[in-house]
Amino acid sequence: MSSTEFTEINSLSLSQEQLQRVVVLTGAGISAESGVPTFRGETGLWRQFRPEDLATPEAFADQPVVVWEWYLHRRNLIAQVLPNPGHHALVELERMLGDSFTLVTQNVDGLHRRAGSQNPIELHGNIFVNRCGRCQDHWADDALDFSKLPPHCPTCAGEVRPGVVWFGESLPAAAIDQAYSKSQRATLFISIGTSTVVHPAAGLPLLAMESGAYLIEINPEETPISRLSDCVIREKSATTLPLLVKKLQSLKNGN
Ligand SMILES: [Zn+2]
Repeated sequence: MSSTEFTEINSLSLSQEQLQRVVVLTGAGISAESGVPTFRGETGLWRQFRPEDLATPEAFADQPVVVWEWYLHRRNLIAQVLPNPGHHALVELERMLGDSFTLVTQNVDGLHRRAGSQNPIELHGNIFVNRCGRCQDHWADDALDFSKLPPHCPTCAGEVRPGVVWFGESLPAAAIDQAYSKSQRATLFISIGTSTVVHPAAGLPLLAMESGAYLIEINPEETPISRLSDCVIREKSATTLPLLVKKLQSLKNGN
């Protein structure tokens, strides 16, 4: 823990009322701290493909086998990493606040669920979900035959795809509606490890701020919402979140 971080968390001027409706938004930063590869830039290449060339409905229509092989490779890498103390701190916060807590994530790696978060709003889906591209049914891995890719839907025989949002696709309407309405009513909004440049998630902290929420940003890098935030903590979430949650706990207990 650095002294800056310690000072910033202790100088947070929050009231108990601000714990009434807490919304947390997480992005790639919290996953990167667990070692999830970002698949961006040169190091993100897989068999010479760029993510933009594979994570599209067109790529899946043209070469579903290659797209599935890439996703199985990614699933395998993600399965080898663990949720970090930042993920676990958010589970604590959910237990502490119950219905007053909403977790929204841009990450598809499912690490929040693996840590124990009960109900994260996954804006971009989840890489471990199998969804039929035709009837939209979801299937567990063992209900499908992966020996011949792509797997086919046991009900309608449609091609099953990874349950993530691809480039050029809209975000799941229910998820984005819920994220918007919760952010709009938030009393405290915490933005963690997200560049806040990818829409529509980028609009969530702004929406919360316009409605009077106290805005905390945790990110080692500056982002477009840094200068609008009430408190900016330039640290990793794995070190900061456990401390912040402790602080919120004592606030809730009236200390
Ligand atoms: Zn189907």
